[in-house]
Amino acid sequence: MFVDVILPLAISTLYTYEVPDDLVDGIKIGVRVEVPIKNKLYSGIVYKISAAINTDRKPRKINSILDTHPIILQENLNLWTWMSGYYCCTLGEVMQAALPASLKLESETKLTAGEVDYTEVELSDAAFLIGEALSLRDYLTIAEVQEILNKKSIYPVLRELMEASVVKVEEELIEKYNPKIVKAVRWSQDFQHEDAQIEALDAVKRSKKQVNALLALSELKNTTQNITITWLCEFAQVERSVVKELEKKGIVEIYDYVESRLTSFEKIEDDQSPLTSSQQMVFNDIQAAHASNTPLLLKGVTGSGKTRVYIETIKHCIKQGKQVLYLLPEIALTSQMVDRIKSVFGQDMLVYHSKFSNAERVEVWQETLKGRPLIVGARSSIFLPFSNLGLIVVDEEHDGSYKQYDPAPRYHARDVAVMLTHLYKCKILLGSATPSVESFHNALEGKYVLTTLPNRFNDVLMPDIELLDTTKERKANRMKDIFSLKMLNAIEETLKNKEQVIVFQNRRGFAPVIQCQDCGWAAQCTNCDVKLTFHKYFNELRCHYCGYRAKLPEKCPDCGGINLHDVGLGTEKIEQLLQSHFTEARIVRLDYDTTRTKTAYESIINDFSNHKYDILVGTQMVTKGFDFEKVTLVCIPLADALLYQPGYKTTERAFQIMTQVAGRAGRRIKQGKVLIQVSRSDNPVFDEVKFQKYDQFFDREIRERADFNYPPFIKMIHLQLKHKDAIYLDNAAKMYEKRLRTHLGNGVSVPITPSVSRVKNMYLKDLIIKIKSDTKIIAKTKYVILKEKENLFLIDNVKGLRINIDVDPI
Ligand code: ADP
Ligand code: ZN
Ligand code: ZN
Repeated sequence: MFVDVILPLAISTLYTYEVPDDLVDGIKIGVRVEVPIKNKLYSGIVYKISAAINTDRKPRKINSILDTHPIILQENLNLWTWMSGYYCCTLGEVMQAALPASLKLESETKLTAGEVDYTEVELSDAAFLIGEALSLRDYLTIAEVQEILNKKSIYPVLRELMEASVVKVEEELIEKYNPKIVKAVRWSQDFQHEDAQIEALDAVKRSKKQVNALLALSELKNTTQNITITWLCEFAQVERSVVKELEKKGIVEIYDYVESRLTSFEKIEDDQSPLTSSQQMVFNDIQAAHASNTPLLLKGVTGSGKTRVYIETIKHCIKQGKQVLYLLPEIALTSQMVDRIKSVFGQDMLVYHSKFSNAERVEVWQETLKGRPLIVGARSSIFLPFSNLGLIVVDEEHDGSYKQYDPAPRYHARDVAVMLTHLYKCKILLGSATPSVESFHNALEGKYVLTTLPNRFNDVLMPDIELLDTTKERKANRMKDIFSLKMLNAIEETLKNKEQVIVFQNRRGFAPVIQCQDCGWAAQCTNCDVKLTFHKYFNELRCHYCGYRAKLPEKCPDCGGINLHDVGLGTEKIEQLLQSHFTEARIVRLDYDTTRTKTAYESIINDFSNHKYDILVGTQMVTKGFDFEKVTLVCIPLADALLYQPGYKTTERAFQIMTQVAGRAGRRIKQGKVLIQVSRSDNPVFDEVKFQKYDQFFDREIRERADFNYPPFIKMIHLQLKHKDAIYLDNAAKMYEKRLRTHLGNGVSVPITPSVSRVKNMYLKDLIIKIKSDTKIIAKTKYVILKEKENLFLIDNVKGLRINIDVDPI
């Protein structure tokens, strides 16, 4: 028997291994096996089993089988295969992205004692130390050796030890996931009956503590299955030794059980309020579309009850005994949204996202395999091993965080979800207040069924949006720093009414640039071709691309002048300006810098929600699905900046962001007010936001895409070449372009220098491929891209060249 194994490496072929006779019975598709490559061990996944192979080279043998049951299913493997083809990457790369780290075993080097005793030879002090440590232990890991010697480079010492045969080096696979074992207490066999328990109490009556422990045991028995020692001791107010004493007497028994790391939650309130008639109509549309297996796009304004409808649809699917995957943008997962779904589904639901520990992720993985009904997760949850998937809900389907930029596979979770419906024969529901241009286009083309909720629940009015032209206001002397008097007055009014304000700014930090007024010098990152952003709170300059940090210089390094000023505005600066205008106001900031930990994020949201703050200043994070009762005013002081981003989706993104932020205003009783300041109001997108004309925005946008050759009318693939040497990169890019052009003609752009042309000391060049959206042409193009990449690497001395392929860039 032979098996093809996927390994967590970027190699384009699968490795074939022979299965030794004694392991044949355990081999199944989807189990992990331990295999050698060169002198390392890896854990890979069995992809294919065959009885014979047609090669002369005798394959190596697998070492062992790691799982008794497959950890992934045939559907997952089918998905991996599709993804590697569609996104032009290897199966190993998909596997890397798909499996929680703890399921990807890696080989670890272990040092064990050799034939020669460490005292018998002459060794350096460092080597002697290791020899001694090994005499006390079965083995040492590299990390332990580093710790003992207190330095990173230990190889000279290792070489010395190996040459003297004092140590041997072995490779072993390390299982990184350990179930959490907890000690618990129960009555032992002879004391199960009540009479026996009373006797036992009598027998220990001279020890008050033992009596208390036993009484506690009886009391807790009704509340839970496994009573941990810790809990029992806490409850009975006794030490652990008391329980040990009872164990010695044979009255109780201490045993191990595996405790789940996943917090479980009780259902709090089942949302019983009936659907409104328009929500009911949408629900019926969904059932009808699903009956005919058509994907469905729900376009509903913010606050119309989309979430309410998702919940009903999910319930319906679970009732039929199927599993549901509910996809949310990463940041929305730590918010009120999850609490709301939790309160409905309780134990039936689990959450999966990147802020979880590895061990927690493995447990969600296993629970999904066992058939847990509802998984709420970020983009990577499309990889979970659903055994019985019936429905996928993609909330906020327009959201850019569904796209993985780096590393490969550069996938879009919404698109993958649509693919999953074919693999699992399941249903899909996409929803948004501002659908992406591509999804709305699909709906108009009839690929998706479109259903809409045009009004807010309870007929709460949509916010009143007003545009303020800062050029005009400045001329009329109605501006104070960046704020118009109108905006300042509106904020003041709101604060007076004891209501709350959200201020949106899409840049974090204090000021994007620190510049010398005398000579024009600006602080630049040493590793990237970008200016450093000033962060006042940390009092330093930071690069948002590579994380480089520098002290704020006291003088201009170029001319020695002292007139260093900040130019442009980040969230921090906005916060400071607001505080100067409203000295009494309690202001809090929500951005990447203030939310490094999960708890920081939650506490800002909770505190704002409980009105501990009056004004929330934030980046895009404030746009995601919040429902704050007292927010009646939303301000966007610098809306122009939204249009100064690169990429063909800039206008679309600007429309979406402004609409979503505006949607945070006045969601409950009072109509909300939104003020948007622009210096040039001639871009039609501002009026489209003001009057909430999605259709008009869409028509204009789709026409532009058609005129200028952008998706969805063509297929786009972005190739990015990287190298440390600019001239070398230039040549390689030209050569690659020429080779692609011979096959693809004018579908290939000339090499383009991106606006940020160097990141982390690597120079960058882009090639944009635009081709007809035709299955055959796309397949040929992908083939050519990969083939010519290989050829390029063959002829050229390509040391250090990297080529990233991004299919459907956004
Ligand atoms: P969306 O997801 O479209 O923003 P939500 O589902 O969050 O809208 O609904 C907005 C508000 O209206 C929420 O506070 C929700 O509880 C309430 N709501 C929506 N539909 C109903 C309903 N049928 N019955 C009672 N309350 C509803
Ligand atoms: Zn200067
Ligand atoms: Zn940098």
